[in-house]
Amino acid sequence: MAKVLINEQLIDEQDAKVSYEDRGYVFGDGVYEYIRVYDNKLFTVKEHFERFLRSATEIGLDLEYSVDALIELCRELVACNDIKNGGVYIQATRGVAPRDHAFPNSDVKPVIMAFTKSYDRPYQDLENGINAITTEDIRWLRCDIKSLNLLGNVLAKEAAVKYNAKEAIQHRGDTVTEGASTNVLVVKDGKIYTHPVNNYILNGITRRVIKWVAEDEGIPFVEEAITTDFLKEADEVIVSSTSVEVMPVIKVDGESVNDGKVGPITKQLQEGFDRYIRSHSI
Ligand SMILES: *Cc1c(COP(=O)(O)O)cnc(C)c1O
Repeated sequence: MAKVLINEQLIDEQDAKVSYEDRGYVFGDGVYEYIRVYDNKLFTVKEHFERFLRSATEIGLDLEYSVDALIELCRELVACNDIKNGGVYIQATRGVAPRDHAFPNSDVKPVIMAFTKSYDRPYQDLENGINAITTEDIRWLRCDIKSLNLLGNVLAKEAAVKYNAKEAIQHRGDTVTEGASTNVLVVKDGKIYTHPVNNYILNGITRRVIKWVAEDEGIPFVEEAITTDFLKEADEVIVSSTSVEVMPVIKVDGESVNDGKVGPITKQLQEGFDRYIRSHSI
């Protein structure tokens, strides 16, 4: 039976329970990460846990863990559940305390929970591309924090599903920000454009790997916000995340991108991404 990690204990999944007073449950008061496992190894795990600790710090949550300690916990769980290809979800909440908006006393300890999932890479979608819609970004102004509060993201994704699409590309007014659970990159005249890293987007690690690949291959990587009109005129559109990797978008709001075919720069980035999987998994 699969094990779940709760506060450093590996527990049978059927016995893994958290309190009804957990602040993650009542307030969404916590942060999370999702880390990919390829061939029993953790991909860009250092980058993920550095971001995890940053997210925690930004909400005033002191986790008292080093990146290395978190990697060790994660490794134990992956080994115990024998995950070859899949991922690890890990979250930390501000702990269990009577419901009150203000932070609890300092003797209330964070609750750390992690579980694994086993699955293959999304080969078919990576080859054929997916459909996306656009939708207004209604989220808060600290989208740089990987917070458990995902209502805006959940509603955006559900809007996509309603239109038979797999991702919702969000925009604040005319400015494209990011997907419901992905970053958005657009290719125009041989250059890649994507929103700069600030409080309006989550600083994606897949986005970062794409930037490394672009630098390797001499493809200009322009970190400037693009408009919804620019998106509609793009040569290629990509959404990126730990789970969908370098995912081509072949239709936006029902209109084809690049005649519905996966473009050459997207393919080049996918190949480069595969090289990084091999060099950055430990
Ligand atoms: C996690 C996430 C991403 C993608 O980040 P990766 O590190 O590439 O997985 C993008 N946008 C949002 C809103 C996210 O939560």
